[in-house]
Amino acid sequence: KGVTLKQPEVNIGLIGHVDHGKTTLVEALSGTWTDQHSEELRRGISIRLGYADTVFRRCSGCEPPEAYTTKEVCECGGETEITRAISFVDAPGHETLMATMLSGSAIMDGAVLVIAANEDCPQPQTKEHLMALDIIGVEDIVVVQNKIDLVSKEEAVDNYNQIKEFVKGTVAEDAPIIPCSAQQRTNIDMVITAVEDVIPTPERDQDKPVLMPIARSFDVNKPGTEIDNIKGGIIGGSIKQGSITSNTEIEIKPGKKIDSGGKTWWEPIITETVSIFSGGEYRDKITPGGLAGIGTKLDPFMTKSDGLVGQIMGRPDELPPVWNEFIVEVDLLDRVVGVEDESEVEGLRTNEPLMLNLGTATTVGVITSARENEAEVKLKRPVCAEEGSNMAISRRIGARWRLIGVGKLKQ
Ligand code: GDP
Ligand code: MG
Repeated sequence: KGVTLKQPEVNIGLIGHVDHGKTTLVEALSGTWTDQHSEELRRGISIRLGYADTVFRRCSGCEPPEAYTTKEVCECGGETEITRAISFVDAPGHETLMATMLSGSAIMDGAVLVIAANEDCPQPQTKEHLMALDIIGVEDIVVVQNKIDLVSKEEAVDNYNQIKEFVKGTVAEDAPIIPCSAQQRTNIDMVITAVEDVIPTPERDQDKPVLMPIARSFDVNKPGTEIDNIKGGIIGGSIKQGSITSNTEIEIKPGKKIDSGGKTWWEPIITETVSIFSGGEYRDKITPGGLAGIGTKLDPFMTKSDGLVGQIMGRPDELPPVWNEFIVEVDLLDRVVGVEDESEVEGLRTNEPLMLNLGTATTVGVITSARENEAEVKLKRPVCAEEGSNMAISRRIGARWRLIGVGKLKQ
């Protein structure tokens, strides 16, 4: 998906309300249409996390924004040089897919918030996604005011003022707002310039033990493939720290669910890497940054349909602990976001279920004891996480999980 030859070094998320043009903007920047799952094409909305790679280039003969492009030859005819290889994480914008969006946020280094100029701002998921980034700690943001081809100049200015008002007091308060038409490919150079200015490549430690939260997992075999030709399961994600080579033993936690003799428990998975794919190429080794697909010796049945999403990969005995219950320090929002009429967030109640998103993991935790600023929760599905990790907390309101606060894993 988008050949770069360089390992991508930074992950840029695309967030915002459904249909505002996230997937179209990724296509304009990378040449890749990320909605490839047949169900997504049929319904015309992104369901899973999409991903695509690209390289940003710069022409030495031009000034920004014209200097920035994804093409080898600049509009001026001059040659361009690679500035950075980028991976895009395209989040679904539909309100029913917040868990997927939250899982994707865990591997974003920065984000582009796409806001359609032809609708009032903010739409519910415009606000909910931005709040989610704030909770997860993604602070480097570019706002794209998209679909300017559909509005008059006055309408574009009114909408710009609404956006300015909306971002006030949020993490995106000082974010640049770039008018653009992803579909007409207008001002794409300005979007690249803003991303280059505002979203730096984070510093990462390659010497620490390798950790990769799993954001996607696949079975790449076609039905009817002969046993001898079956490829092992693929896990996709972004290396947070450390590095990994192919033909290396790895561990995945919490691992595999075992039901036996009326008991249920989870066993860590031990397997081996057989291939590493990143930035359009197979590689022997990858370091932090960008999205990678790692081929393993796992039974592809375990990895199909995102079956391992939320787990963590590392070297044996080097992963964070696995939790079946924990105490979470809670900071509730004042109001429920993501809905048209925002009600007040009520206090936590013993016995209520919460959706918790830690890293790429989504789990439901039932409160066994609710106190003033913390709660003890028992998880339906264990998670592998460092003590002190942040989590997004959602509560069931009506038929949906709605973001209500931020938590910190205490012990
Ligand atoms: P997403 O749900 O945010 O990923 O939105 P999509 O990228 O799937 O776009 C939703 C619809 O808006 C599609 O029909 C696009 O062709 C259209 N669209 C996206 N960007 C633009 C734009 O800049 N101008 C116009 N007129 N339509 C756009
Ligand atoms: Mg989309």
